[in-house]
Amino acid sequence: MRGVLLPGGSRAELREFSDPVAGPGQVVVAIKASSICGSDVRAIYREHLGKGPEGYIDGTIGGHEPCGQVESVGPGVTSVRPGDRVAVYHIAGCGLCRDCRSGFMISCSSPQRAAYGWQRDGGHADLLLAEERTLLPLPEPLTYEDGALVACGFGTAWQGILRAGVSGRDRVLVTGLGPVGLATLMLSMASGAEVIGVDIRPERRTFARELGAAAVFDPEEALEGVRAVTRGSGVEVAIDCSAAASARQLCLVSARRWGRVVFVGEGGEVTFAPSATLIHHQLSLLGSWVTGLGEMEDLLGFLARKDLHPDRIVTDRFGLDQTGEAYQAFDEGRTAGKVVVIP
Ligand SMILES: [Zn+2]
Ligand SMILES: [Zn+2]
Repeated sequence: MRGVLLPGGSRAELREFSDPVAGPGQVVVAIKASSICGSDVRAIYREHLGKGPEGYIDGTIGGHEPCGQVESVGPGVTSVRPGDRVAVYHIAGCGLCRDCRSGFMISCSSPQRAAYGWQRDGGHADLLLAEERTLLPLPEPLTYEDGALVACGFGTAWQGILRAGVSGRDRVLVTGLGPVGLATLMLSMASGAEVIGVDIRPERRTFARELGAAAVFDPEEALEGVRAVTRGSGVEVAIDCSAAASARQLCLVSARRWGRVVFVGEGGEVTFAPSATLIHHQLSLLGSWVTGLGEMEDLLGFLARKDLHPDRIVTDRFGLDQTGEAYQAFDEGRTAGKVVVIP
């Protein structure tokens, strides 16, 4: 089979590998879509900067947002069979610790924990060797691209919304309208909320408006804009998906008293005065990292019931042999939405 390595130095290398064979509890998945995440570019593609859970082991096939069809199953596998369409939770935890038992394999601290595309082979390939416990059925009418986007980005957005308890009673500010921000926008709207979007890039603001944002603003005019749209009260919920210090501060000052603020965007730093900003405003500030298996299963069901398709935010598609171009286009900001590699 073919697979793509990410050796650093903004390169992607297509190589031949022997086809994986499923051992006990394992499943071989024929990859139908494998999307690129901001973290792939930030921590692997440019240089191998990631540490710990974001550490990339040299020689690992990249891609942690895979989706496909079961090709073969190993001994003891009972939940899926060849031909099934499956979504993949992108980290295989030990399966036995407190975090794994709650479905948050992202937080597993066992040495056995391995994320697809980071510490074990990922989805930029014809075939993926997966653990059965990381697979979820992909319900109709969702597409393989929908499933790939749920593996990390939409799952992460969904969890942020769950943490904030977003409902139809809320106005939600989303800062950073990259793929996770657009996912937050779509899922908040589908939950009944009204969404205000903020991004520095005009094409992203346009995209957010097309997806149904009630208002979109450039960061410069955002605070005034939020005040005008909310008639001075501020938003019930603010979710940062940008990691920019100014956007995190904007979230804190845009939330109304007793509002909920969630930080989802990774990296960077932020400074704010706790008394004036957080305490006197009675805010809840939450950090949210990826999602859990049960929550991801709920998200797949939610999307299927609503006939809501994450692939709506896919703007660029590349073949496996064009994975290098796919990364380059994404890294250079030539893509407004999500970039998907299709073997
Ligand atoms: Zn990711
Ligand atoms: Zn574990």
